Amino acid sequence: MRASDLKVLELLDFRADEGVIAFHDQRMLLYDADVIGILRRELVETVGPKAARGLLTRFGYADGYRDAQTLKKLFHWESPEEWHKAGLVLHALEGKALAVKTRLSGLADDGPFEAEIRWENCYETEQHLRHLGPATEPVCWKLAGYVSGYFSACLGDEIYFVETDCCATGHGCCRAVGKRRADWGAELEPHLEYFKAASVQDEIARLEQALRAQRQAASRQKREAERWKSLAQRLQGPHAPVVRSRAMRDVFELAERVAPADTTVLLTGESGTGKELVARLLHERSRRAKGPFVAVNCGALPEPLLESELFGHVRGAFTGAVADKKGLFEEASHGTLLLDEIAEAPPAIQVKLLRALQEREIRRVGATTSVAVDVRVLAATNRNLEQAVARREFRRDLYYRLNVVNVVLPPLRERREDIVPLARLFLERYAAAQGKEIRAMSAEALDLLTGYAWPGNVRELENVLERAVVLATRDRITVADLPPALRGGGGLLAPGESAGALPLRALERRAILAALEQHHGNRTRTAKDLGISLHTLWRKLKAYERDAGTRRR
Ligand SMILES: [Zn+2]
Repeated sequence: MRASDLKVLELLDFRADEGVIAFHDQRMLLYDADVIGILRRELVETVGPKAARGLLTRFGYADGYRDAQTLKKLFHWESPEEWHKAGLVLHALEGKALAVKTRLSGLADDGPFEAEIRWENCYETEQHLRHLGPATEPVCWKLAGYVSGYFSACLGDEIYFVETDCCATGHGCCRAVGKRRADWGAELEPHLEYFKAASVQDEIARLEQALRAQRQAASRQKREAERWKSLAQRLQGPHAPVVRSRAMRDVFELAERVAPADTTVLLTGESGTGKELVARLLHERSRRAKGPFVAVNCGALPEPLLESELFGHVRGAFTGAVADKKGLFEEASHGTLLLDEIAEAPPAIQVKLLRALQEREIRRVGATTSVAVDVRVLAATNRNLEQAVARREFRRDLYYRLNVVNVVLPPLRERREDIVPLARLFLERYAAAQGKEIRAMSAEALDLLTGYAWPGNVRELENVLERAVVLATRDRITVADLPPALRGGGGLLAPGESAGALPLRALERRAILAALEQHHGNRTRTAKDLGISLHTLWRKLKAYERDAGTRRR
């Protein structure tokens, strides 16, 4: 997660039906800024400007301190600096001020922490000018308090920001400088008193205690039974290449360069990393783009069928060969042929593939003459072909023939910065396809997505989002819409049990019974929750009863 990835709709959970706006476990309020301005005037007029400044500074400090803690808990930040910067982004998202120029040093290295921040559109100046008129000294007390609190929480030290320029005193923007207390010296003294109130730290400690208790209660709730439902029909279409990571941009750059060259390309990478997507890209950016793109899975067919599929056959070549048939090499003429899962090709097929690549001609099964073919061959595998060669499972000569250029697709866990944009893309796509108005993901859900290892890579991410859109009952994806696997166990699976180890039927049974329990046996609500009809639920429960009866006998 990066600071620039923050989106206000994902951070805030608008529960209008409960009268609550939640930011993780903080409750947020929407206020008319003028009301705050009026309060400020009242404070200045009743307790005096000095006490008013102290109150608002500490108010800002607590605000910033809490925001820092919440942001830290919510996300896996790419680096601590991203977390540190996020405070300023969040502050802007909350509508308080826009940090336009920021200089932060000493965050990553051990040098002294020094910060300079400039803001525009600060609501505090606006309100001060409106209700109290122009000032002779900076007035953004709450703002200075906010960044002091935020960075104090981040760095675990006393950080103080002092506002040097302010729009309320006639400057073009507000500017504040921040340092550790130890680095400030005497210059800080006149400002320090405004931060001091024993009650602020005590109050924060008390709030933290309350938060811990709240979180424990929340995690108990999370352990409740999970819903599980079969996926909707998979949508067609390649993943749009949304790539932010350097690793993936390198892949696409290499693909763009080799696309026009007509050479054989070997695509390697784990399942679901997008090998077919890159193969299609290679085809579309080649001179063969107008020709066909044909893909065949070499691991899906037994040898005789695969041979006939690839090279075709003549009538009478074997029982059932009632007519001549073109193979995929001929079908892909003037186009591209993708040999997917090439490592699974049986040895006899490997020999024939090598011949086809070398001679640029093939012979149909049962034929006595060869046919010239004009095809660009791409091969893909999720296995390590070099190892397969060393173990003599794959022909070395064919390996060299295929591996003219090797494009390696990195697994998703090695390019985590792509997770958020890809997840948003799939959310948008499936929400549109299913006609659901889902615009955002909760911060907790996003955090689970970025923290998960994704053994099934982009394809798994896509499936998870598709499922989440199916399950979502509100206008945002929440943790409850994500599969239990992402939540680190719990839910439907016993510890140490993987989903692959259980038959789907057993999983479904557990899900249905768990949901029924959750709804205290209310079948109508259970069916609604699971997204199945009451009739289907009834039928399945009957079947479970029958199964149980059979086992007893
Ligand atoms: Zn100001």
